[in-house]
Amino acid sequence: MAKQDYYEILGVARNASEAEIKKAYRRLAMKYHPDRNPDDKTVEAKFKEAKEAYEVLSDAQKRAAYDQFGHAGIDPSMAGGGGFYSAGAGANFADIFGDVFGDIFGATRRGGGGSRAYRGADLRYRLELSLEDAVQGTEVRIRVPGLDTCDACKGSGAKAGTSPAPCRTCGGQGQVRMQQGFFSIQQTCPECRGSGKVITSPCPACRGQGRVERTKTLSVKVPAGVDDGDQIRLAGEGEAGENGGPPGDLFVQVRLKPHPIFKREQDDLYCEMPISFATAVLGGELEIPTLEGRAAIKIPPATQSEKVFRLRGKGVRNVRTGHVGDLYCRVNVETPVNLTAEQKALLEQFEASLRAGGKRHNPREHSWLHKIKTFFD
Ligand SMILES: [Zn+2]
Ligand SMILES: [Zn+2]
Repeated sequence: MAKQDYYEILGVARNASEAEIKKAYRRLAMKYHPDRNPDDKTVEAKFKEAKEAYEVLSDAQKRAAYDQFGHAGIDPSMAGGGGFYSAGAGANFADIFGDVFGDIFGATRRGGGGSRAYRGADLRYRLELSLEDAVQGTEVRIRVPGLDTCDACKGSGAKAGTSPAPCRTCGGQGQVRMQQGFFSIQQTCPECRGSGKVITSPCPACRGQGRVERTKTLSVKVPAGVDDGDQIRLAGEGEAGENGGPPGDLFVQVRLKPHPIFKREQDDLYCEMPISFATAVLGGELEIPTLEGRAAIKIPPATQSEKVFRLRGKGVRNVRTGHVGDLYCRVNVETPVNLTAEQKALLEQFEASLRAGGKRHNPREHSWLHKIKTFFD
């Protein structure tokens, strides 16, 4: 049997994005869901077909092979996968396809005649926040493209003043019996595609779809302390449902923009600060930045490079536990550059005085030299 084109099966263009392919597959998979078509064996085949197409087109490598060589480019043992689903194994369906369906199984059924209401798809939105906004909390307005219930027809798809009529082909059942030789096969009605209704005068605003593409502007309250990867759920702000089904949810995913000074790790903040040679030697007070403003730290005399100072409670308040993290500031002693001849002479004089003094002034150098000596001996 000649195989149908994968793109045609999913009803997507050849240049369709990954998201479009997933969306198309999800629609088909819901439509051909065995739970929704318990007595219809042809639906199972359709389901397998859609699943096979999706498996190939959702995999960049397989898709490239398919684009170049067609079905011959795909190893049949890889695609479709024998035994992944059989009518009797319907119970495992949700486990196998959980990644694609997620919470869509909450779809509700409405009325007789096979017309079913489906919950709208969940949407994801990536929200980039500065560290300050994530720590202090903020309210942002976002624009989210998606499918919304058509106002003109209230989602029915029928022109105002008209209502969908029962499908004559299937008598409103959504299923038809076809005689093929000795066999009688039940099939999804080709006229109404299983809905049991036909729209005689489609709503002009949505061309009978009941939903329209619309960009929504939403206000999102970001609680103080959110971190990279956190999700904020806006219930009911996903895509509109089908046939009057409930809408999906919108998940706002937080991404933190890199900060010029601080790095965040969970509730703690980290920064690096250069200090002068003289301050490191003599000690002193240094101003350091915190998210709440300026703070001062005492640098003790004889501070070595890489020393880390901890400022308790100057980190981030955890959005869930309320725990407040610390700020860790690592100092780096800077080697002075662009010295004048006079300054160099002073330094040489200084170095000579260290050697003449007979005390150990360089603890690291001393232990290093000791290690080298033991190594060669
Ligand atoms: Zn409409
Ligand atoms: Zn029909």
